[in-house]
Amino acid sequence: MSVIDKNHTDRYDTPEEPFALDINDLGNFRYDMQHCIKCKGCYWVDHTYMPGVHHSVRCPSNLWKEFDSYCAAGKMRIGLGMLDGKVEWSDHLLEIIYACTLCGACDVGCKRNLDLEVDLTLEAMRVRAVKEGAGPLPVHKDIIKKIEKTGNCYGASADRNGWMDADVNPAEKADIIYFVGCSSSYVNQSVPKAITKVLQSADVPYMLMKDETCCGNIPFSVGDLDTAKKIAEANIAKVKESGARVLMTGCAECYRMWKVDYPKLLGIRTDELGFEVKHFIEVADEALAEGKLKLTEPVNRRITYHDSCNVSKTCDPWEPYEGKRGWMGCIEPRLDRRRGKSGLYDQSRELINAVPGIDFAEMPRKKENALCCGGGRGAKQAFPEMAENAARDRIEEVKFVGAGTVVSACPWCLSNFSETAARDGEKIDVLDIAELLAMAVK
Ligand code: SF4
Ligand code: SF4
Repeated sequence: MSVIDKNHTDRYDTPEEPFALDINDLGNFRYDMQHCIKCKGCYWVDHTYMPGVHHSVRCPSNLWKEFDSYCAAGKMRIGLGMLDGKVEWSDHLLEIIYACTLCGACDVGCKRNLDLEVDLTLEAMRVRAVKEGAGPLPVHKDIIKKIEKTGNCYGASADRNGWMDADVNPAEKADIIYFVGCSSSYVNQSVPKAITKVLQSADVPYMLMKDETCCGNIPFSVGDLDTAKKIAEANIAKVKESGARVLMTGCAECYRMWKVDYPKLLGIRTDELGFEVKHFIEVADEALAEGKLKLTEPVNRRITYHDSCNVSKTCDPWEPYEGKRGWMGCIEPRLDRRRGKSGLYDQSRELINAVPGIDFAEMPRKKENALCCGGGRGAKQAFPEMAENAARDRIEEVKFVGAGTVVSACPWCLSNFSETAARDGEKIDVLDIAELLAMAVK
């Protein structure tokens, strides 16, 4: 072996720079921030999937401002400046960091190219902002106070089970415990009504959580890990106390919190939670496959499906990682990257296509490439214009494929699409997937 070959082999064989996938320390992501090559794969959907220049971007933040600081590449460069003490906190800097739905589109886009941990870097920047007293934003602090005072992110004093009507018939004990979530409990009550109707029609027993409170999505998303961890521990204890085998949500944001971010906060793997986490889509799809869910009533509509981010790009199971990095970024031990492969892409389409009468149309941006609705992770509360801008772009895509109805799997998408469509006078219907299925059962 030549000297050059030997040197290369040695350097390749001996990674020695320690790092962990731990968002408590932005320094863990120095390599990722340094090695962004500004290719913008985090912004543009791979052109091989796209019909043309329209509907070809994937970042709601950069779509809003059309300025590179707002896309992941810009945010990564700013994160490096934060780490090296080269940027000062300002309102503008906080806007760049928080006007982002942490939708994961940049993360899966980058991992087709360089395998950088973009999503975790963006989360770690927010944790750093909170630790330095600059974040979160006042609107987020207000929401966190509301959660601490009332157990829900709206500060509502009404009964959390106010959505339950006389037809809702949960079991006292069941394998499945249904975690309803704040949005479905107070704002989008049609979703839990539809979910329970579908489960009951398929004879799938479920119970409800006693004294349910918020899942902690917004505290976690804005970087307040202490508050989020307390919520995670209390919620996990309630599931264990219930004896349930499966925690089911009908909200994509709750789903990601339970499945990915609770284990991340606790430093454990998803399969160490002690119970399985499922979205309603998975439970309904299993019932369909077993012949228990009978979709018999025709729904004669041209429908398209919006892959909500947190049942698609961001919901791969969590596994803590500590290792070493060396020459050319090679690492030991091997790291199984999270690439959005566990998304519920097929299950949701199977369910929709099982409804008689449906004329299903795919949008150009689908599955991992879907554009976020703009409504999640505390971004809409702080930057409503950004949220509307993303929803408006997606609604244009719904119309582009000639659909009159857009179906999603998250009440936060439901709110953001419905509110934007109403404000713009758009004649499209917005439905949750549970509502669509409820229309098809007797
Ligand atoms: S895709 Fe990755 S490497 Fe390319 S610009 Fe975006 S963050 Fe940087
Ligand atoms: S997480 Fe989503 S909104 Fe934030 S930078 Fe990445 S693609 Fe843009």
